[in-house]
Order: sequence, then structure tokens, then C-alpha cells
Amino acid sequence: MRGSARFAACASFGLLLFGGVAPQYLDRISADSLRGHLSFLASDLLEGRATPSRGLDLAAEYIAAQFRRAGLQPGSKDSYFQQADFLEVSRNNDGFQFQIKGEDKTLTLDKDQVTGYPGAALSLDSVSIFKVTKENAEKISVEGRVVAIEGDRNRALLAVLQKLKPALVLSFQKEKNAFRGPVAQLIEVGQASPEPPQTFLTVNGPDAASLISKLPAGETGAKVTVHFSAPVQKAVKVRNVVAVIPGSDAVLKNTYVLLTAHYDHLGMSSSGDSDRIYNGANDDGSGTVSVIEIATALATRPHSKRSIVFMTFFGEERGLLGSRYYGRHPLFPLAKTVAQINLEQLGRTDDSNGPEIAAATFTGFEFSDIPKIFEAAGNETGVKVHQTKNSDEFFARSDNQALADLGVPAHTLAVAYDFPDYHKVSDEWEKIDYANMAKIDRMIALGVEMLADNAEVPHWNSANPKTESYRKARGE
Ligand SMILES: [Zn+2]
Repeated sequence: MRGSARFAACASFGLLLFGGVAPQYLDRISADSLRGHLSFLASDLLEGRATPSRGLDLAAEYIAAQFRRAGLQPGSKDSYFQQADFLEVSRNNDGFQFQIKGEDKTLTLDKDQVTGYPGAALSLDSVSIFKVTKENAEKISVEGRVVAIEGDRNRALLAVLQKLKPALVLSFQKEKNAFRGPVAQLIEVGQASPEPPQTFLTVNGPDAASLISKLPAGETGAKVTVHFSAPVQKAVKVRNVVAVIPGSDAVLKNTYVLLTAHYDHLGMSSSGDSDRIYNGANDDGSGTVSVIEIATALATRPHSKRSIVFMTFFGEERGLLGSRYYGRHPLFPLAKTVAQINLEQLGRTDDSNGPEIAAATFTGFEFSDIPKIFEAAGNETGVKVHQTKNSDEFFARSDNQALADLGVPAHTLAVAYDFPDYHKVSDEWEKIDYANMAKIDRMIALGVEMLADNAEVPHWNSANPKTESYRKARGE
């Protein structure tokens, strides 16, 4: 792995200067402070921080206020906000019609039972449905057809279907009150609007799920009628929130370490049971408050050689919108950005693969030498920074991907990839382990400081073929 041994040596040299004792500013990172921030950002009042929404704007204002309080420098000229102009192209329910005709039963569904977003007017009358399963997916040709799959989180099958180019994909899931959105597409003003997207609709509720499960694989004999009017357009403004601690070295201050998290979440469901708010406390309120807390602590120590940029993104849940926007409109030169550490899901220790206490992991663990640096920071702060088996699979699942695509060595750091309340209304701030999160944040602060104080820069791992496109983008 290029540079890693050298970097580890430098990093430990840096630690010798601390006399083997973690520096004092780390004690400013407190569980109570994290709890205070998160109990506001994940409160019901913010309505799940959808992109765009008033709840998201309130969250942005709160984050900026904390940056201001910590005395951080604004990151976007004299403002903490990087404003982005988008067009929201929304689903139009005028004239909505959805009917499935099975062998002995016809189901007529309400607009709230069919979620998803057709990018253009859609009009199908009594078109036959082809059922795709794991077994037949590799051998069929369904281009331009209407296909059905069972379950709505079948990522592997959805990925196969994307390549087969059906006109419409219907997925069926039993729960009536599953997440009901987004019902719009967000396009940056001035960007060419993308190809009309393949339309994926989810049909919710037990009746439809049972109808489809009884049908045979392949040609089902069932027919669907769907009508959507053309979508409606509206201009919206959304914001990344950005602050800086300027570097202290005459040369290295023009290079940057980015610490990021997404402050948006899923918003609210349009209908359903008593709790309709997706609070997103762990995803990614925990990353957001960690950025605030770490920035606040780092601001109290002598500045590192490199500049440190703290940024919270809008629109991650809508497809990395805020980080991709930043990539197109960087406030600091990407070629001079030495690393992005993106924080996700730091507050829950109850991973489905077993408890993760005083432990953290990186996505794409072997993609660059960055995780090794944090391993050293973990040794100083009592946190095990380790590789988990799904680390590569999750690399593309958060905002590090946007900057990695542009060459910046970038990872997401997480405690638990998969926790029981993931993308549920029950992801609430009361369930967070704040003492553990504070410990993890101390490790992160130290790792960021090591990156920002070291003259050596991290590199993509040239021995790993999965990093090829990132190395190319970096010119390495
Ligand atoms: Zn997230």
C-alpha cells in the first residue's frame, strides 16, 4: 500500500510529541453536548429534514449558529452557506390511476399506496406483467416491458433490472406504512436534465403483495393499468453548511482536510400511523453533531498546518445531491484537498452483525492509507478502528463517493452500518449511545489533526484494482 508505512511512522512521531497522552482539547468533546445538539436536530419539530424542506433549513441555520459560536471562519466567502439552486420536478397525482388485474381478482390502488416517481407522463392500459426472480433475472430480455419483483429492498435484483431496461419496474411490499417518498426529482438549475429515468414504483400493502406472490415467475397473465400526468416543476434553494479552521503553515494552509456529514434525512410520510416523522437521529444526525462537536474542540487548540474544512451536506438521501453539487462547485480546490472523512451513523452500537462498542470502521478500508492513520488515532484514544466484511460494499453509499469520483481520497467512517431502526421512524435521539459517540469523536478529532499536521499526503492504494478510476481522476 503506497505511502502507508511512511505515513504511520510520521503519525506516531506526531504522537510522541504529545508524550503518549491524548491531547487535552479532546476532553472538550462531551456526551452531553452531543446529546443537546442531536435532541434538537432530530426533534419532531424539524420533520425529518427532507431535501428541500423548512426542517432542513432550520437544521442548516442551527449548524451555522454552532459554527459561529465556536468562532470558526465561514467557508463560503463571508457566509456559512453554500446555496444551490435546484428545480424540484414533482410527481403529479392529477388523473392518477393504478389497477392490477390478476386471474381472479382486480385491485384498484389509491395514490398513497403507490410510491415512487415517474419522470414523465405515464399512460399504460392493460399491459401484461412479467415477474422477475433471482432465478430468471440473468437469462431474460424485458427491455421496454413492465416487470414486477417481490419485496422493495432487493438491491441486487434492482441492479440487474437497471441493465435490462424495462419501461416500468413494480416492486411489492407488504407493510402499508413503509416510507412513502420521495415523489420528486431534484435537478440543479443549469444542469442538463438527465434522461427520463427508468420508473420504479413501489406498491404497498398486503393485498397487492399477496396477489403478486401467487403469480408464477416469468409471464404472469396479470395486467396493469397506470396513469400519471406530466410532473410539475418548482424552483427551490438548498444549502451546504461550511466552516473552516485556517491552517498555520505558510504553504500547507492552502491544502485542505474535509470533515463532512449529511444533515438531511427522509422527511415525513404522507400518510400512515401516529408517528410519521423520520427523525434520522443516527442517520445522519449523529455525523452532523459530531462535525459540530469536533470542529468546536479543534478550534480551541493551536491550528494545524493544513486548513480543516467542516461541511454538512443537503440531499444525501436523495442521491448524494449536496456532495455532488460541492464537487461541481468546490469552495476549496479539489486538487489541494488531501482527504475527505465523511461521518455516518456514529451513535448506535447495535449493529446487526453484533455490538460495535469503542470500535469504528471505514468504507473501502483498503482503498487508501487513510484508515491506517485513524487506526493510530484509535490506539491513542481506546477505539478499535477495524475492517468489517461489508466495508467495500458500503463505499458507494454515502457522500465520500462524490469526491472519490473526482479523485480526492475519501471514505465514510461509521460505527454500525446496519442498525435496527435504519430508515425507520424509530431512529430517535433517545436511542443513541452518547458516551460511546464522544469516544469515537475524540478518535476522529485526533485522526483529522494527524492528517492536517502531516506534510505527507494520503494516497489511493495502487495495489487495489477497485481504486483505479479514483487514481485516474487524481492523476496518480
Ligand atoms: Zn446516511
